[in-house]
Amino acid sequence: MSEKVHIVVPTPAHSAVGASLSYRSELPLAPGALVRVPLGRREVCGVVWDAPAAAEPADPPAQLRSILGPLEGLPPLAAAWRQLVDFAAGYYQRSLGEVALSALPPQLRELDASQLARRLKRVRPHGEPVAASPERPPLTGEQAQALAAIAAQPGPFLLFGATGSGKTEVYLRAAEALLEQDAEAQALVLVPEINLTPQLQARFQERFGADAVVALHSGMTNPQRLRAWIAAHLGAARIVLGTRMAVFASLPRLRLVVVDEEHDPSYKQQEGARYSARDLAVYRGRLEGAKVILGSATPSLESWQAGERGRYRRLDMPTRVGAGPLPAVRIVDMNHQPRGTLFSPPLLAAIAQRVARGEQSLVFLNRRGYAPVLACTACDWRSECSHCSAYRVFHKVDRTLRCHHCGFTERVPRACPKCGNVDIAPLGRGTEQLEEQLAGLLADTRRPDGEPVRIARMDADSTRRKGALEEQLAQVHAGEVDVLVGTQMVTKGHDFRRITLVAAVNPDAALFSSDFRAPERLFALLMQAAGRAGRDAQHAAASEMWVQTWNPQHALFGALKRHDYPAFAAQQLEERRQAAMPPFAYQALLRAEARTQEVAQAFLQAAADASASLEGAGHVVVYAPVPMSVQRVANVERAQLLLESGSRPALQAFLAAWQPVLQGLRMKGLIRWAVDVDPLAI
Ligand code: ADP
Ligand code: ZN
Ligand code: ZN
Repeated sequence: MSEKVHIVVPTPAHSAVGASLSYRSELPLAPGALVRVPLGRREVCGVVWDAPAAAEPADPPAQLRSILGPLEGLPPLAAAWRQLVDFAAGYYQRSLGEVALSALPPQLRELDASQLARRLKRVRPHGEPVAASPERPPLTGEQAQALAAIAAQPGPFLLFGATGSGKTEVYLRAAEALLEQDAEAQALVLVPEINLTPQLQARFQERFGADAVVALHSGMTNPQRLRAWIAAHLGAARIVLGTRMAVFASLPRLRLVVVDEEHDPSYKQQEGARYSARDLAVYRGRLEGAKVILGSATPSLESWQAGERGRYRRLDMPTRVGAGPLPAVRIVDMNHQPRGTLFSPPLLAAIAQRVARGEQSLVFLNRRGYAPVLACTACDWRSECSHCSAYRVFHKVDRTLRCHHCGFTERVPRACPKCGNVDIAPLGRGTEQLEEQLAGLLADTRRPDGEPVRIARMDADSTRRKGALEEQLAQVHAGEVDVLVGTQMVTKGHDFRRITLVAAVNPDAALFSSDFRAPERLFALLMQAAGRAGRDAQHAAASEMWVQTWNPQHALFGALKRHDYPAFAAQQLEERRQAAMPPFAYQALLRAEARTQEVAQAFLQAAADASASLEGAGHVVVYAPVPMSVQRVANVERAQLLLESGSRPALQAFLAAWQPVLQGLRMKGLIRWAVDVDPLAI
């Protein structure tokens, strides 16, 4: 007796979205079971899937290949997990096989039966219910109110809490309440950055015990990932903390989903299946009847709008716990400063004052390296990258020119490669230069102990070595740094206690960006940065956030001064509404990469031409193909085409009908293409 089973196997990204393959099995297999199957000449891991909805011709089982065997000891993946994967593949226009298999730990596909059995034995099954440690702070009134609403209502909840208002305590207590109610309940907590997981993991483990909590993120080794995944899949791990990939973790008894800093762009995957982990978390919560909490001091405008419409239930926590008020915002008008000023005199004086008082300052500029361009003073030579349509950045530390797009690196030439002039000079500023100038300007400033000022820089360059970031953070926490200079990396999440001044040196570029989301991101960044200051009540009264700008009258800074996110959101949403942009419209991008820009655009144009008669086409605006803002990277030309619709279902129907058309288009010189649904950067 053999039967036919449908199995999802790893398939190329765009092979028929949602398709499974048929195999023959001697044993009955439950949907969700993990199996080994032959695929071509390979042996791969697959997942038994539900039979396709449409009736199909009954294949004579004799012609089907047989499965090789189940992965012993692993219970099947739950129906809700399969539904999540089905939905993600369909919504984001990728093959089911790609989404399903990339959601599983890589090692699952590599281990043989005895290796897997050994791994499974190491996971301790869950014993009596997990008890939260009794040592926890009494709730503030705002926290208690938020938790009461979470207990009483279905959600999803938008926890709109100021930086330092104690959102994490709300997550901990919400998890505690659910784990108390249900001895097998599980919670999923998403954070935007790998760097933030150890901190949060420590807090959850302190509360719930080390065994109950596992992390899942791409910084882990494959064995670590497999172990954590198995613990979650078997129900031994009660709380899974992770970055966006963790949204696909197998959690058979999921009761709570938290998305911390829900506005953070890193929740959107930027390659492969371009999913939004935030949006999938909300979908998954609804699917599984789990409560969903989205937390932020500066919610995405999409979530804020959902709150305004009543689709999300908003919970406000405006007050900081155990800290003083939010810092006073000082706007410096750079039009009135001496030409070429990097640090305006009042900002410099304020930093010097902090140093003298033994307090810390944090200064950021969103550009690493010494200068973004090196230029010849005699001819028109610039440090262009020969592989990209971008300049190579001057790094003074090791005297190199480095392309931040393709990595192409060379020593700085002694003289202009074009005319031989020896006088080549940096244009513009990066974090290295900030550090150098500040050291010069504060050379005579003394700390309370009479020692000279200690300046440190933290950016992608200074933290490249494994462990370097942790070392730098520890130095700042230990008070061994007086001024921390860096990119926006320094503004994220860290609970620095002695910082009383935060400064944005030159944030203006975002005000004039062609990306309509740039102001939203800038406002979130500045509010987040302001949240780093005055976290210790002892110093909070005097804490300040400085912004140097050539546009002091900009409405964004007005709202920032008042720490008034709702006013900023209302103004932005009104602009978006008038321009019919998200969240009032839905977008998708078709991106193409090719040997030449002509081919990339020709592919997009052919795709547009073929789309006119598709389902939903009447409700979808198809724009003209355009080169991407950085049009060439590593000798590959890139172009994109924007689609917009007032209706999400119409856009979805259109994309589904378009998919086979796109797969059928062949063009010489085309390297690859991809659809990006709900793109974050246009
Ligand atoms: P957020 O995530 O909202 O920025 P945190 O959760 O990091 O804020 O909380 C800020 C600080 O307040 C932390 O040091 C935290 O331990 C403390 N805290 C939170 N809730 C309470 C409370 N109810 N009582 C005392 N301290 C609290
Ligand atoms: Zn020259
Ligand atoms: Zn390059």
